[in-house]
Formats: sequence, C-alpha cells, structure tokens
Amino acid sequence: MSPARGRAAAMAGALRRSGGSAAPPRGRSRKRASPRGGARQREGWGSWGVLSGACWVRVKPGAPAAAPAPPPARHLFSDPAEVEALRRNLVAWYDRCKRDLPWRALAASEPDADRRGYAVWVSEIMLQQTQVATVIDYYTRWMQKWPTLQALAQASLEEVNELWAGLGYYSRGKRLQEAARKVVSELAGRMPRTAEELQKLLPGVGRYTAGAIASISYGQATGVVDGNVIRVLCRLRCIGADSSSPAVIDRLWDLANVLVDRSRPGDFNQALMELGATVCVPKSPLCGECPVKQHCQAWRRVEKELAFASQKLFGKAPPVPDVEDCVGDCPLCPPATEPWDSSLGVTNFPRKAAKKPPRAMRTATCVLERRGCHGAPEYLIVQRPSSGLLAGLWEFPSVPLAQDLQEEKEREELADHLQAWMGQPMAAKGLQFIGEVIHIFSHIHQTYVVYSLHLDGDVILDPALSPSRWVTEHEFHASAVSTAMKKVLKAHEKQRRKESSPAKGSKRKRGAKAPGAGSPCPGTQLSLRAFLRAPTAP
Ligand code: SF4
Repeated sequence: MSPARGRAAAMAGALRRSGGSAAPPRGRSRKRASPRGGARQREGWGSWGVLSGACWVRVKPGAPAAAPAPPPARHLFSDPAEVEALRRNLVAWYDRCKRDLPWRALAASEPDADRRGYAVWVSEIMLQQTQVATVIDYYTRWMQKWPTLQALAQASLEEVNELWAGLGYYSRGKRLQEAARKVVSELAGRMPRTAEELQKLLPGVGRYTAGAIASISYGQATGVVDGNVIRVLCRLRCIGADSSSPAVIDRLWDLANVLVDRSRPGDFNQALMELGATVCVPKSPLCGECPVKQHCQAWRRVEKELAFASQKLFGKAPPVPDVEDCVGDCPLCPPATEPWDSSLGVTNFPRKAAKKPPRAMRTATCVLERRGCHGAPEYLIVQRPSSGLLAGLWEFPSVPLAQDLQEEKEREELADHLQAWMGQPMAAKGLQFIGEVIHIFSHIHQTYVVYSLHLDGDVILDPALSPSRWVTEHEFHASAVSTAMKKVLKAHEKQRRKESSPAKGSKRKRGAKAPGAGSPCPGTQLSLRAFLRAPTAP
C-alpha cells in the first residue's frame, strides 16, 4: 500500500471510529467538574463573564470591566448566529430523542416549585458517579418513600442508609438528608431558587448541582459542567489541555454559560448532558448522528484531514491541510509534547492528567454464623463509625491489615479483634479461610480476606463496643450494608455450597486447615467452644 493510501485508510478508520454505528454505552454517570469559586486563575487569564448572548468580557474581581481580550477564537463561541443555531439544533434533537426518565417526568409535571426542586435535587445527587440505569430503581423507591423535603427530614439516618445501600458513595445520602432538614428547619421548607443561593445555603450542593436544580426546576439561565459536558465542549472547541485542571474547568464553565439557551435553560443543559451520555460518548462517538456536528471543531478537523488524504490518494495536488492549531503557547490546546493524533480522530479530546492509582488496602473480615431459632443461619453484623469511609453502615466484624502480612499473622490479628469483641481467648487456627474478595472504591483498591466461624452457642458481646446485631440473610440484605459486604456473604455462601457438594469438595488456595480439621467430623467448622479454647502448645 502506498504511503498516501495508508494514511487515507488510517484517517478513514479514525473517521469511522469517531462516527461509527456501534451502539454507544448508554446512561453514563454524571461526573461533576470540580466545584470552583474562580479564585484560582491561570496567570494571564482573568475570569470571563458574559454580558449578553455570546459576548465575552474580561471581569477582574473588584475592578471595572477591562477591555475585551478573549482566549483564542477557536476555543470560543463568539458568533451569536452560531450559538443560536447550536441551541436550536441541540434542543430540537433533545425533544425528539431524550430518554424517558422518572426525574424528568417529575420535573415537567410537578406544579409545586419546592417539590419540583427537591425531585431534581435527589436525582442529581444520585446520578453523581452512578449510572442512570442503576439510579432509576433507587430514585423511584426514594421518591415513593420520601416524596417531599418534609418527609425526608423526618427519616432516620438508618432508613436513609438502608435505602441507599448498594448505590455507593454513601455520604451523599447522609448529606442530602442533612440539607433537607436544614431547608425545613431554617428556610421554612422553601427551596432556594437560584444557583447562587442553592450553593450557598445547602450543604453538599456544589456548583454543578446548584446549576442543574436552578435551570431545570426554576428556569434560571445558568450553565452546568459535568463529565459529559466536559467531553462535548472539549470536542466542540478542540480543547486539549488537561480537562481536570482549574484553568480549563473555568473556561468550560464560561463556555457553558455562553451556550445555555435563555428560553429553555433546563432542557438545554439536559440536552448537552444527554448528548454526552448517548452520542458524544468517550470511546466511539456517533458523530454521524450528532445534531451539532456542524459546530464541532474536532469533527471539522477529522473531515479536513480525510478530504486531504483522499485528494492525495487520487493524485490531486492537495493544499496543505488547515489544521487550525493556535500559534504559540495556547493554554487550551494539547501540550506540544502530545500533539493531535490522527488515528484517534475526535477522541483526541478531552485529555486528562493520569489519575493516581488507587491506594491498596487489606482488611480481614469474619462471617460469624449461628443457627437462629428456626434453624436458619444468622450472621453477626456490626456498625461502622459515624464518619469516614462507609460511615454508619453495617459490616461483618473486620480489622484493617498491614500490607504484606504473613497469613498466620493476618489470622492472629483477626482472632485478636474477635477476642476483644467477645472477651475470651481466641485460637486463630479455628478461623476458616473462605477466600479474598476485591472491591474497588473510588480511591481505594480494597481486598477483604474472608474467614468464617460457626458459633454453637450464644455470645455475650461487649456493649461498650460498636452497635451489633444478629440478622438472617433476608435481614442482612435489607440492612444498610455495602456492596462489598454483600460480595463477602456471597463468597461465604459459595464456599458453603461447595462443601455441601461431596463431588466437588472444597479447595482452598491458602494454608488454612480444612473446616473441622482435628475434629471428629471433617467438613464442619470448629464450634465456638473449640474456637474459644486457649491455644495449646505445639
Ligand atoms: Fe462528534 Fe463533535 Fe458531535 Fe461529539 S460533538 S459526537 S465529537 S460531532
């Protein structure tokens, strides 16, 4: 293949990738842009405000407006006619193609302004970092249980945690309830009506959530910037600098505020997010179906490169492609060390600095099991502290472990922890190793080293320790337990099934003795009495 043909093929591939027909992963979660007050500005770049329509005016805090000095034109929406056309095309597409979602139905039909604001607020908090498909069921149950701010304000934190269980980022539910209580007790149940007030008065409401509530519920013409909007705007305006940097985030907020439709701000903001969730997706955007492709600089660049390659292929003397890069050190263009890559097409944008790898943590956890009054198994769960990771949730008795601890040491640490609970000497060898369960939190790679112990008598738990209770399997799942703990119980049940199936038997990777080792009945676990027996010298 000739070099020209090869290049054309590569570009066509890039174009296909950027406008391919594969169904996009729908319903991406909403990632908020860092809430910012505009205090940190990149040197030489003031804060940019909007006076009307699409005009950019430099605004210096505490000083009269200075002469306009816009960022490079290709990163702006400076043509009012283009802004109007983009709004029109995007909102018309949204009217045709938007997904039918419960919070949208409520926002459109609820006549009471406070209830409407509350309904949007709940959806926005749940959608942070969580997929739309996951949120729908939680949202529906939440609104059935607490249809108003007043109802939520009267709920207990335990009830909130129980309903939130499995949705992740548990502090969101707690903060939502705290804020609802504040609206009821301090604001007479009246939701603030503007983004500024919402952000100022409601704990846990940042710039994005405030803008979303104000525009969708109250028609305020204010932009929003979440993960989907970042992607769409970076592609529309070829912004290739680190999209998580404060300077770029500030520019994106400016762009969102310029673009937002003055007559239908809520629908416009939802349309922009919907576009990012369903068409302008991270890996294979459907540019061919995009309602704003004629306004998209990234798309235009791919088209130009493709046209250039085709002309070259057919032997025509092509003009040098106009790649429209900014000259000099543009703070919004990709860094010189990582220029535009034709093979990536529009997915050159956005770009992010590499994320820090999650911190690795190991925790030993023990499924303590006993027979309940009807013979069904019951499990001991204890409550976590009221602050920190998974605050107030319930879990199996657990103890954090140092990294690279020997297996025997891990057992001993867990046995010591259980001993503190029960006030009796523990034999570490009595713990049956079940396996390891991995759970990824946003910033933590957590490994649970799972053990189990069957109790044949009751245990007097020290009341001075954290709250604890025995639960059946059904009660366990209805409790405020994390997804990680559900995985732990699942691993335990799987092990039990293996043990009860003689054909398959039970294989353990680690050196734990088989259940009941040393007891007259192989295949069963040590009883509590045996477990509590002080270790004998070898
Ligand atoms: Fe493609 Fe641009 Fe539309 Fe995104 S905004 S789908 S990159 S044309």
